[in-house]
Amino acid sequence: MLDIVQIAVMSDNYIYLLHDHATGLTAVVDPAVEAPVVDELMSRGWQLDFILNTHHHGDHVGANMALKAKYGCTIVGPKADERRIPGIDIALSDGETFTFGDHIADVYDVPGHTLGHCAYHFKTASALFCGDALFALGCGRMFEGNPAQMLNSLDKMAALPADTRIYCAHEYTLSNGKFALSIDPDNQALIKRMETITALRNAGTATVPSLMGDELATNPFLRTNDPILAANIGLNGADRVVIFAKTRSLKDTFRG
Ligand code: ZN
Ligand code: FE
Repeated sequence: MLDIVQIAVMSDNYIYLLHDHATGLTAVVDPAVEAPVVDELMSRGWQLDFILNTHHHGDHVGANMALKAKYGCTIVGPKADERRIPGIDIALSDGETFTFGDHIADVYDVPGHTLGHCAYHFKTASALFCGDALFALGCGRMFEGNPAQMLNSLDKMAALPADTRIYCAHEYTLSNGKFALSIDPDNQALIKRMETITALRNAGTATVPSLMGDELATNPFLRTNDPILAANIGLNGADRVVIFAKTRSLKDTFRG
């Protein structure tokens, strides 16, 4: 069994602890800050064996060196950006795997938000750790990549099973959903999902992880092949890359 512990830090970041029962191994995904991770490890009596980084941004690698100094853990990250991942020991490329006790994660390169960005898919746990590549009802801002690259990254993740839980790194769901509704107002699945999300946020509850099946039905960045959505942004029949690029730029300037 793979235990997954979600730690909410700073204004909207999520850090995840993974714990493999069989071997007692523990990993942390994208440790933005040190203290909440150490507290959580201590309260559970766990050591730290691995850090898994998705990309180089400070709110994902911020505690790498402090945690490595404290626990002597091994740092794993994207080969494509190894020079920007502090303390990296194991650099992985698309199609490689990371073995974590009884679990094997498939590693996907998912560039676009940054040029080196990977996602870890633990198939047997139906869990995807995707950093800032894919969000609930959204996707990362395209800081370093181009639309074709980012769409290709999203396609890779969208091809995973519908019951895959998406452990993204930020709680952006509500504002993402407001944008989604602005360009897909008649999507009944989206309308229903937003009711659930609004209630969860009002109760101070996380909306992450989400399910890939729900993302396919409601996330506009995974729906570039939907003719209604394309028509709604004035791109009926256009190339998917063009539709994605327009959707991304509309989101960048959206004021909900
Ligand atoms: Zn980022
Ligand atoms: Fe981030």
